[in-house]
Order: sequence, then C-alpha cells, then structure tokens
Amino acid sequence: MIDGPPIEVNGRRYALPRQPVVVVCVDGCEPAYLERAIEAGAAPWLASTRAGTWLVGDCVMPSFTNPNNLSIVTGAPPSVHGISGNYFWDPQAGVEVMMNDPKYLRADTILARLADAGAAVAVVTAKDKLRRLLGHGMKGICFSSEKANETTEAEHGIADALRFVGQPLPSVYSADLSEFVLAAGVRLMQTRRPDVMYLSTTDYVQHKHAPGTPEADAFYRMMDGYLRQLDALGCVIALTADHGMNAKTDAAGRPQVVYLQDVLDAWLGAGRARVILPITDPYVVHHGALGSFATIHLARPGDAIRVIAQLSATPGVAEVYDNATGCARFELPPDRMGDVIVVSKRDVVLGTSPERHDLSLLREPLRSHGGVSEETVPFVLNRPLTADAPAATGLRNFDIFDCALNWAR
Ligand SMILES: [Zn+2]
Repeated sequence: MIDGPPIEVNGRRYALPRQPVVVVCVDGCEPAYLERAIEAGAAPWLASTRAGTWLVGDCVMPSFTNPNNLSIVTGAPPSVHGISGNYFWDPQAGVEVMMNDPKYLRADTILARLADAGAAVAVVTAKDKLRRLLGHGMKGICFSSEKANETTEAEHGIADALRFVGQPLPSVYSADLSEFVLAAGVRLMQTRRPDVMYLSTTDYVQHKHAPGTPEADAFYRMMDGYLRQLDALGCVIALTADHGMNAKTDAAGRPQVVYLQDVLDAWLGAGRARVILPITDPYVVHHGALGSFATIHLARPGDAIRVIAQLSATPGVAEVYDNATGCARFELPPDRMGDVIVVSKRDVVLGTSPERHDLSLLREPLRSHGGVSEETVPFVLNRPLTADAPAATGLRNFDIFDCALNWAR
C-alpha cells in the first residue's frame, strides 16, 4: 500500500488508501431495489452490510448518468465540474453538443489525483460514453465493457480486456453489460490488486423492471455475488447510485409526457424556443430520450417570465426556474443551461415533439429519471464509519469517496 499525506481535490482532502477501496456506482439504483432484493433473499451479502454503513443520500441534478458519475469522481457538483448532462446547446457554435469529451470537464478527478500520488487506479464502466471523462488525466487502467474487445495498453492501461475478464463481449442493451463491469472488477482485484477501483454499471435493467420484480432481483443477486468476492479479497466497498428510477406512466401504463417544444411553439410562435433534453444520448432504446428534466433557450430572453408563469401552471410540471435561480438551486453551471429550467413530476417526463420520440421502441412501460423525484440514492459501505465522521444526514452521492477513504473503519 502507498504512503503519503492526504491529497486535496476540488477543495476536499482525501487520505491515501490503506487497503483496496472499491467505489461502485449502480446505475439507476433506486434504494428500493436493494431493500426488495434483500427481502427476497436475493442479496445476502448486501444484507450483511447493514452492520456496516446503510444510509441514503441525494444525487445531483439533473438526476442523469454523466453529471452524477462525474460528481462522484470529483467530489463536487456540476457547477464545479461542468458536466450538466449528456448534451448541451452551445450558443456560440449554434449546435447541440455531446458532453462526452473531456474538454468539457472543468475539475480534476479524485481518481487522477490518487494516481498522481502513487496509487494504482482502475476504472471499469459499462458504456463507453463515460470512459474518457472518468479516465481524464488518469494514469492507470480505464475501459468500458461495451468496447472491452478494443483495449490497448497505451490507451486503456490493459491490452485485450475481453480475454482478461474471460466473458463474452456483452450487448450494449443487456444486464450482461453491467455483469461484465463487476466480473472485471473481481478479476482486477484478484490479479493486479489496485489500491482504488471505480466500477460504474448501466441502468438497462432498472429502466425496464421495478424493484422486487424477478428480473430486478436476479440482477441484484448477480451483483451481490461479485461484491461478496470483492469483500472476501479485503476491499472496502462503497456503493451508491447516479440516480433513482420511477415509472412515468398513467394507470393504464401509458407514458405521461409534456411535449415542451410543441407547447412553447404554440405560445411563442415557431423558432422562438429551443428545448434541450440532457438525457439524450446515442442509447435511447430503453427510455426514448424522455426524462424529467429539460432546459429551454429563448430567442428573446424577455419571454422567460411569461414562459415560467405558463409552465408553472401546466399539469405534470413540478418546478420551473430562470437560469440564475435554477442553477443556484441545483448547483449547475449557468453557461451550460438555457434561460429556463424545468423539472417534471414524479410520474411525468418531458419531451420535445411526439415525432421526435419513438415510443414504439419501448417494450415495457416507461421508467425513467432526471427529476428531483429520482434524487434519493443508496449510500452503503461494508464498514462502519468512525465515531468522528461527519453527520450521516444531508449526504450526497459525491461524498462517497470521502467516506470510503477518510471515515471507513
Ligand atoms: Zn444512470
């Protein structure tokens, strides 16, 4: 194990690990998934962590994958690290831009700084869209299950990860994509024993199956087996989620959608408003690019007051703010959000226009995230925290490295 003084990253101090630390971000893990799997007897290892640290915390808004994964690895909200969604509108360039590129990242990661301090660091993520952001500036191993067949020593710190893990390349739309992440973590710990490992799964199962369903319990049974192996290898394991997940349907199972672009075009005339849905990414099959958060760019900023008033009175809308108020409330970077920020209610999603969302791709009733209603996430460690640890209330998912490195006994 490495020795040295604590490092400081984004204004927070982190002790160097004295034993291997594994932080697991379980994508879309509404806390009820863990509770129901334990009740069903599907997750005995997780049940045993109740003797360690069994808490909940809040994720960052919007409750999407990329902003939260980057918050977890930077220990900071999006106002600091800059990744406020999968997409943003770049008004200077006049284009919608994917935020997968590390050039949009405004903060160091804890992972990169631990590697600089001499720690052996490994990162495995399900989807490749996160890999370059998570691994930015980091010496060590960093690859995705999605492209495990393409890894090289130079780019990913490990050649032929597919063969190393010894499982077939999973489909990007499968529970296997997450299983590969966990299997890779166990294999890495057995063979290379990194000091710090970050594992990030995908929410394919959670988008389709509610807590307590046989499919969900099977997923957590699978996960439980791998975490048990990591525990047996002597790791501190800290588990949280990027966001929760809720059904977004009416009593008949039909999606409940507010199509914002159509609403705004009717109020303001065509071409006066641009709706950005930051959930949008290349992988839309399981959510149809429908989430509970949107931002609106207005051609005439003076329209904001009227738009906010009218949206506030629109059924299905939970919260509407101007840029400054919304960014202060949700700790977002103002220059990457529009003039208006909208959050929908728990069982409602926000879209642009019906023709831009192919709901025929959905094989199960819509489940999604993005809103305040998906903020609560698990905060679980297989160790108790020391008596002098900060209060266990008001935790955020991005406090997980702090707890795992500084306060786990
Ligand atoms: Zn996610």
